[in-house]
Amino acid sequence: MADAVPGGYSIETLLAAAATDFGGAVAPPIVQTSLFTFDSYQAFEDRMAGRSGDPLYTRVQNPTVAAFEKLMAQAEDGEAAVGFASGMAAISSTVLAFVKPGDRIACIEHVYPDAYRLFERLLKPFGIGVSYHSIEEFQTDPDLLKGVKLAYLESPNSVVFQTMDLSAVAANAKRHGTLTVVDNSWATPLFQRPLSLGIDITLHSASKYLSGHSDTVAGVVIARQELITRIRDLTLTLLGGKLAPFEAFLLTRGLRTLGARMRQHQETANLFVDRLSAHPNVTAVLSPGPNVVPGLTGRSGLLSVEVDETIDIPRLADALNLFRLGVSWGGFESLILPTRIGLAQAGEQNSMQRFGVSDRILRLSLGLEDPNDLWADFEAALSTSART
Ligand SMILES: *Cc1c(COP(=O)(O)O)cnc(C)c1O
Repeated sequence: MADAVPGGYSIETLLAAAATDFGGAVAPPIVQTSLFTFDSYQAFEDRMAGRSGDPLYTRVQNPTVAAFEKLMAQAEDGEAAVGFASGMAAISSTVLAFVKPGDRIACIEHVYPDAYRLFERLLKPFGIGVSYHSIEEFQTDPDLLKGVKLAYLESPNSVVFQTMDLSAVAANAKRHGTLTVVDNSWATPLFQRPLSLGIDITLHSASKYLSGHSDTVAGVVIARQELITRIRDLTLTLLGGKLAPFEAFLLTRGLRTLGARMRQHQETANLFVDRLSAHPNVTAVLSPGPNVVPGLTGRSGLLSVEVDETIDIPRLADALNLFRLGVSWGGFESLILPTRIGLAQAGEQNSMQRFGVSDRILRLSLGLEDPNDLWADFEAALSTSART
């Protein structure tokens, strides 16, 4: 697991042990109110003039949401955090707080498909330039970020799970005055802490591992105070994609068990990587392990496997009992997403088509079932679906 948090404890301990700001309540109450009133004219005026930080209105500030934000800031080694209604609200609100027409964004290839659509369908028409680059280009071209306002990164990236040396890219970005953003949903702060590697902003789809229970759609952004203040004042307040108190309660509940869950996801993923790599019908296993790049300390349960031409993919998917077919990932349940379904997704701007993903790839989200049961299920489906 990643390095220690202040106080000498591990992040896992911090998340399990941190007290709430609600007296002796171990779980935060859900403060289900839209507005907060003031005891006096003076207190109200102080708040509006910025002389006090008392909660005012839940679009901007809520104590249940603040409890989750505080935990995430500590876990990700940031000064502050801000919650959002979804991962996409976190991504769009972060990017829009820092770019304006005429600016350029450099984005990693194989980025999350809806982030790609945000750039192509919404930002480009507003006159914001976006270019896409391989990990090699980010790591080796010292001039790639010249004149670039914001570098939008994932490590590992989506579907193919390629990793980059974030500290090297962060150092290069600093020379060019480029703001760096990393989507850390795959690794969680337990396996990678981008801010401690010199990255400016890290964000999550909290719908995945942070929640862990497939019952919440949410997002969160962590950075130094000055950047979070800008996001809060501009895009949280004005676009309004706020995190709801009930979702924040569920997320804090999820964070309490993040360490135990990630340990189990890693154990199952290690077993799958070993057995898949030795399987005669498997042509590639895409699953970065600890230390393939500096700062990555674990293997999460989201990985891809490429199978050879003898495997009938629809038949394999239908032969599975424990793996269910569906989008998303990071919950207790195991899921399979064949890329040929992603490639067939209707609509404009399909990033899988653009960046060229093999239709022999299956993305697996390994859940919390017994690893041996999961492997037996997958192995049996592989043999059932092999054309002879
Ligand atoms: C799911 C996902 C998102 C989007 O998050 P939502 O909560 O679904 O809006 C962003 N990035 C990655 C890597 C994801 O997997």
